[in-house]
Amino acid sequence: MRYISTRGEAAPRGFEDVLLAGLAEDGGLFVPETWPTLTPSEWHALRGLPFAELSARILHRFTGDALGFDELHAMTRDAYASFRHPAVVPLVQLGPRDFALELFHGPTLAFKDVALQLLGRLFDHVLAKRGERITIVGATSGDTGSAAIEACRDRASVDIVILHPEGRTSEVQRRQMTTVMSPNVANLAIQGSFDDCQDMVKAMFVDAPFRTDMRLAAVNSINWARIAAQIPYYVAAALALGAPEREVAVSVPTGNFGNVLAAWAAKRMGLPISHFIVASNRNDILTRFLTANDMSARPVEPSLSPSMDIQVSSNFERLLFELLGRDPRATARMMQDFRATGRMPVPDAAWRQASAAFTGFALSDEDTLAEIRHWHERADYLADPHTAIGLAAARAHAPADASIPVITAATAHPAKFPDAVQQATGFRPPLPPALADLYDRPERFSVLPNDLAAAQGFVRAHTLRNAA
Ligand SMILES: *Cc1c(COP(=O)(O)O)cnc(C)c1O
Repeated sequence: MRYISTRGEAAPRGFEDVLLAGLAEDGGLFVPETWPTLTPSEWHALRGLPFAELSARILHRFTGDALGFDELHAMTRDAYASFRHPAVVPLVQLGPRDFALELFHGPTLAFKDVALQLLGRLFDHVLAKRGERITIVGATSGDTGSAAIEACRDRASVDIVILHPEGRTSEVQRRQMTTVMSPNVANLAIQGSFDDCQDMVKAMFVDAPFRTDMRLAAVNSINWARIAAQIPYYVAAALALGAPEREVAVSVPTGNFGNVLAAWAAKRMGLPISHFIVASNRNDILTRFLTANDMSARPVEPSLSPSMDIQVSSNFERLLFELLGRDPRATARMMQDFRATGRMPVPDAAWRQASAAFTGFALSDEDTLAEIRHWHERADYLADPHTAIGLAAARAHAPADASIPVITAATAHPAKFPDAVQQATGFRPPLPPALADLYDRPERFSVLPNDLAAAQGFVRAHTLRNAA
């Protein structure tokens, strides 16, 4: 199995190199050279398998010979053993054809754990084999930092440094990061904004000698392995509802387009998904694109669903590449246009193809609260704001054929966003027992001014200490 860049100027390579590289050197994203497909009897053989095994079987299609099934299975078993639900990603029925696929039973209460718990182990496995180490550096406004830290803690070949803006993350978010005491984990509170943190991380990656010396790596959502690791839960859910004989639809709360792209990849592999509903908050660029071919960036506005406060969905490039008939030059041109002008002129034929399969939906904060209230009253179900938007989108755009069930990706635990849930229902969801003592645990982090040299010195000291 080989991977090519969506912009066509990077040499094709195997799964392990794609895992370690993240972004291709031509600025494009890696995609499989050819999509693996499964026959109906191969889909049947996956039905009812424990999630860790199903996951390894699907991932093996994407690793080729680079990783054996048994090695992968050991990693998925280990990754998902810490999930709080025995089904790992349980499918909960909320109505006659309404299902929530709960992806939030991992250590940080959000769906990113499903992919990142595996990614940390994949990194370790590949690096140990090569006798190499890496240092993950990232900036967070609160959400992804904790998932990355939980994924990398105690990994033998990985160090991780996460920058957050001092005093500007919620206390739960900060504590989820700063109470991890593993020696390979460091938290850096920067006296500045999230943008300052992000600029500093970018500057570290642009500083070629520093980047090479420290073997810097990123775990952001453009990494192909993250997408691959999100395909299995759509497979498990669709098979449970009768695929491959029965079609299903999916509704996905969307930010960087990674999660919904994984569902699309499952369809590309032959899973019968008839509709993709792309749910967003007031940051509705994808809805404007899908309804009116208006892909134009606007300033990001804060909302009750902060993980979707995004205007440029980085994984969209992978879909664009397919819509343009896998033409890397056209893809590169369109992405460069978008960067330069904030608008993407998607050709009409490609747009029609996209809008036939994908439906956009955007919801205000006020209606998000109403939706949380609706499911609490109607089904005694507590949805977090992101999940609520997905459920509202599913109700608004369920396929006309009532025999098609709609699977909504439930992307965060309600206790991760207790204020919104309380505002909507009057009920404050408690943290799961494993996190109940979060407020009593000691914290460890360093504070530094908004100064690149100081932050680089910190990363260097952390990396050298652990390499010794
Ligand atoms: C990251 C995140 C999303 C958006 O997922 P993408 O793959 O970026 O589209 C949605 N909901 C929650 C809770 C998230 O953490």
